[in-house]
Parts: sequence; C-alpha cells; structure tokens
Amino acid sequence: MDKKFKFVGVNSIKLNRHFQTDSDCYEYLASIKWADESFECKKCKHKKCCIGKRAFSRRCVKCRYDESPTAGTMFDKCKFSLLVAFHIVFKISSKKKGMSSLELSHEFELRQPTCWEFKWKIQQAMQSSKQNPLSGEVHIDEFFIGGPEEQKRGRSKGNKRLVVVALEKVKDGVGRAYAQIIENASSEEFKPFFKSYINKEASVITDEWTGYSPLKKEYKNLKQIPSNDGKNFPDLHIHIMNLKGWLRGIHHHCSKERLQGYLDEYHYRYNRRNNMDTIFHNLVVKMVNNEPKRIGDKV
Ligand SMILES: [Zn+2]
Repeated sequence: MDKKFKFVGVNSIKLNRHFQTDSDCYEYLASIKWADESFECKKCKHKKCCIGKRAFSRRCVKCRYDESPTAGTMFDKCKFSLLVAFHIVFKISSKKKGMSSLELSHEFELRQPTCWEFKWKIQQAMQSSKQNPLSGEVHIDEFFIGGPEEQKRGRSKGNKRLVVVALEKVKDGVGRAYAQIIENASSEEFKPFFKSYINKEASVITDEWTGYSPLKKEYKNLKQIPSNDGKNFPDLHIHIMNLKGWLRGIHHHCSKERLQGYLDEYHYRYNRRNNMDTIFHNLVVKMVNNEPKRIGDKV
C-alpha cells in the first residue's frame, strides 16, 4: 500500500478527510486485500485476475468469479454503509475506552443489536495472534468478575467468572498484558494460558497459590512469593482494578464468549497504547485478513 494512502493518526477530522465516500473505503480495502497485486480466486484458487465489473472488484480470468473487496472479510454483509463501518472501527480502536454498542447506536443512528453484532466481529479481529508471548519479568494473578470481592479460590463461583491475567514488567513501568477466562484456578486451566502468552524463559512471578506450582516444570524461572493482599504485585493490581472498572456493567449480560471478547478488546488497545497512530489501519488489516465468525460459533 502506498504510504501516503495508509491512514495514520487518531484525529477524526483527518479520518473524515481521508474517507469521504463508500468508494474511498472500498478502494482502501482493495489495496489491503490485494496488496502487491497478490490475488487468489476464492472459488478456484487461480492466481490471475482482471478488473471486475463492480467498483474495485477483481475478476478471476479462469472461472470469471467477480470478487468484491469485502467478500470473505469481516466487512462482508454489513447492514450499514462501509463508511459507517470504518467510523465504528475507528471509534472502537482509537478511543481510550472504546465505545459500547448503545453509544454506537446513538452516534450512528443504528439499532443497538446491529452495532452489537458488528462490534462482536471487531472483537474477534482484536484477538491476540499469540505470536508474541510476554517475556522478561511477568506477573500473574487471577480475579473474579461479577461477584463479591471476598470470593475465595476453589469454591463454588455461581455466576461469576474467573479470569487469569499476566502483566509484563519493563524498565520504566509496565509493558503488555493478556487475560483469559478460566473455569477454575487449577494448573490444568493455567497451562493453556501460559502456553499462549508466556515465553518459557520469562521470569514469572505469582503468589503462593498451589495451582501455579506444577508449572515450574516447564517454566524454570517461575517464582512464587507471598501476595500480601496484592501489595507485592502493585502494578498488576492497578491493572486488574482498571480492567474491572471498564468491565463493570458489561458482564451481567454476557456469555463466556462475549466476556472473552471484551477482555480481548481491552488488551488490544492496552497493548498498543504507544502505537495509537497505526491502531486503526492495523485493525482494518486484521478484519480483511480474518474470516468472520457468526455469533455462537466457537471463537
Ligand atoms: Zn476463479
């Protein structure tokens, strides 16, 4: 993609100038989808194409299938204009706390379920690629969402959800973080989370909960220290407090999959807080390169 063409920044006036019509958005998606003239027909996998009948579409020269820039992307079958879709992606990625589907429905005069459905797709694109595990010093703990604070580990959790969270410590403060819903605080539940998000060489620090002990086999640098009511993990506990503050009011209405979507959304922005200029463009790229899933599909 032409550098001048790529949208950079978090300024909505600039966004308005960059994308004035649906056609501008189709052109943008086409330049991402078929970057460097790469083409592979969705129907027959043939690699040669010509210009399609519709604006910015490509036509396979073998089977004559005419593919639009949105086909097979998360912008496919959108219930509103592509320009509005771009604005929603911009709001969710560039606003510090994102935007709820209710706020979106007011701002863009759409039905709330319509916004909810589209936001669900955006959250799927915000899932971590799991390609960049946390390294260096990593603090890990769990917390409950949706219940009284005095909830103890291992006991019946009712409607509450248990979340495990990892935060990377860097020289000048904190780095990236990830969180995942788990069924209980057992080592079996911790294992997949560690595997996805923590480098084996990392200096992992947890409290003295027995569920973490078996992980020392694979994570040689895992150290357990007393939590002292969280005082020994100040940065992690500020992170959990902020995350809970943001989630408050959402969890009452959401399924396990939906809650994970919100955790992914929160950390997508959090982990890019120092790269806000490219957050919108990179999210659009992920939405073009990932197949949409329907609500209810396993994510
Ligand atoms: Zn074809």
